[in-house]
Amino acid sequence: MLKATALVKRYGPCVTAVDGVSLEIPQGQMVGVIGRSGAGKSTLLRLINRLIDPTEGQVHFDGVDVTRLKGRRLREWRAACAMIFQQFNLVGRLDVLTNVLVGRVGHRATVPTLVKQFSRSERALAAQALERLDLADQGLQRAETLSGGQQQRVAIARALVQQPRLILADEPIASLDPGNAKRVMDALRAINREDGLTVLCNLHHISTARDTCDRIIGMQDGRVVFDGPPETLTSPI
Ligand code: ADP
Ligand code: ADP
Repeated sequence: MLKATALVKRYGPCVTAVDGVSLEIPQGQMVGVIGRSGAGKSTLLRLINRLIDPTEGQVHFDGVDVTRLKGRRLREWRAACAMIFQQFNLVGRLDVLTNVLVGRVGHRATVPTLVKQFSRSERALAAQALERLDLADQGLQRAETLSGGQQQRVAIARALVQQPRLILADEPIASLDPGNAKRVMDALRAINREDGLTVLCNLHHISTARDTCDRIIGMQDGRVVFDGPPETLTSPI
């Protein structure tokens, strides 16, 4: 269970990006967070994975107050939150397999620079993830030679090898054409279903959230203005 309690994030005296958000997300739910640009969606994800600290409020995961974690425990929490970004954030010059292994770096004391510095079981995990994402044949290609949709699926494979406790996706399909967007959302949905992983996904289009999510959270001006199953969302946010 992921729980946000009265979360507030202010940037200086004038901007309140998140303004008193309380939520409970049970394990295994796929949640679409929708709202206009500036509604506070990215800030909410960054508060959850502790990329930023809240001005007020807490985030709990399975009873642990993650807003109070420090040092090693904080690094472990960040490794437990796999992030997917709009721009994929791959290292274009490196091959796909190496990009996937980057997901293991948070689990290690030192940062390996070569594929062979990862253990055999880590490499097997990466190969298995690529197979799941239908990219088994692309492992040795440079990431920048892949299409956007393929690159985002590499990012999902990277998230999987992280063996995360939840996936936080920030506009994962905003730079993809509809065909690739559907494939990426289907991949996230399959992982959510098969692995019982909680997925929190910021989305621009309500239709995508309706098609793929168990629950929609609508944000406006840092506040939750809708929270419910997709079929109960009747008016635009
Ligand atoms: P969304 O993801 O819904 O587009 P954001 O969380 O990115 O919304 O932004 C919410 C509000 O907070 C916006 O007004 C944005 O300009 C502001 N904001 C976001 N990040 C920062 C920052 N680092 N410094 C100052 N203001 C920020
Ligand atoms: P998105 O639309 O994906 O939420 P933005 O373009 O709003 O992203 O923000 C990109 C980066 O700029 C983020 O790191 C965010 O924190 C920062 N940012 C956004 N708005 C502001 C702002 N008003 N002042 C300073 N930084 C900002």
